[in-house]
Amino acid sequence: MTHQSTAPVSPDVELPPSGPDNTDVVIVGAGPVGLFAVFELGLLGLKATLIDTLDKPGGQCAELYPEKPIYDIPAWPRINGQELVDRLMEQAAPFEPTFRLGQRVDRLDRREDGRFAVSTSAGETHVAPAVFVAAGAGCFTPRRPKVAGIEAFEDRSLFYAVRRRADFAGQDVVVFGGGDSALDWTLDLLPDVRSMTLVHRRDSFRAAPHSVEAMRAAVAQGRMRFVQGEMAALDGRGGDLSSVAVTGAEGEQILGASRVLAFFGLNITLGPIADWALDLEAGRQIKVDTEQFETSTPGIFAIGDINWYPGKLKLILSGFHEGALASQAAFRLARPNERLRFQYTTSSTELQKRLKVA
Ligand code: FAD
Repeated sequence: MTHQSTAPVSPDVELPPSGPDNTDVVIVGAGPVGLFAVFELGLLGLKATLIDTLDKPGGQCAELYPEKPIYDIPAWPRINGQELVDRLMEQAAPFEPTFRLGQRVDRLDRREDGRFAVSTSAGETHVAPAVFVAAGAGCFTPRRPKVAGIEAFEDRSLFYAVRRRADFAGQDVVVFGGGDSALDWTLDLLPDVRSMTLVHRRDSFRAAPHSVEAMRAAVAQGRMRFVQGEMAALDGRGGDLSSVAVTGAEGEQILGASRVLAFFGLNITLGPIADWALDLEAGRQIKVDTEQFETSTPGIFAIGDINWYPGKLKLILSGFHEGALASQAAFRLARPNERLRFQYTTSSTELQKRLKVA
């Protein structure tokens, strides 16, 4: 593949003031493919920093299907989404990756020294000679209910995720949704809140049956309420909620609420990646070569669902292979004066030392 672009890959504006954190490779996206790349980089003696908009690692596996079995992971005849993520975390652990979760990578800029400055929505900048974009289908953003004036309450008293449990302690909490997130957080926060109400438009749920059973038991014991209906209006002052109106078969009900959690699913968008001046396929996937999975900008690699090449299969196992080859290329950038030796984990004491098993 030919690489022409040497220009900055984001518009040339000032970088955030925070001090750069130096690492060998910054990985954008902590999905299964980003996690396995940590392992492949680690075997070569390279350090990785992973950044993800989600507040937990695992990408689609953890966010969209944690309890669904996957049948096509080599040597795992059956493994569920979250279990695969847990195993990948265990496999990556000896290499002590740095995780920066709950922040989006907004910009990539090439510095004068040839390295990249990777800037996030939290105002952090991480500097590395190579970047792996392992961003899957892009950023997950919560679906907002269409309710007038909702912005005034967002991130103050209405949330789309639980970032700090303390925000809900002693509060009148109303949770909206019928999936795993809604049910899991309803049950999880129940012991800490002053009152808890779950609202869903139907009396049937997508969440795991055992969570639904536990919720119904808590309702029967009078520990919480379930209301069938939809969010119609929010009331409060200065960003602090006092109540939420819910419409359903029984008309409108006003529920006292100091906190609302809204779990209406996620939209997936390419987000800022579209502005990084990388060659794209159909505006959605980053074009790469199949030798080292490098993009049109040397030093920036794309692995996993986000990339495209002839014959691309959006499967986890394909992303694992792509990460292994991109790691070899990253070694040549991060250690230009060292020789890359091919070694087996079964027989190399050097690799076993890195794995902390020798
Ligand atoms: P993802 O898992 O999408 O992770 C990408 C991460 O990047 C996300 O966490 C996202 O938040 C983050 N991100 C994106 N942009 C940014 C940014 N700008 N800044 C910071 N973070 C960012 N595959 C199989 O092989 N077998 C199966 O059986 C299978 N079943 C599936 C079932 C379902 C219901 C779904 C939805 C998918 C399934 N897949 C399956 C596909 C598989 O989940 C994907 O191939 C895999 O998740 C891709 O991994 P990834 O790491 O490339 O991306």
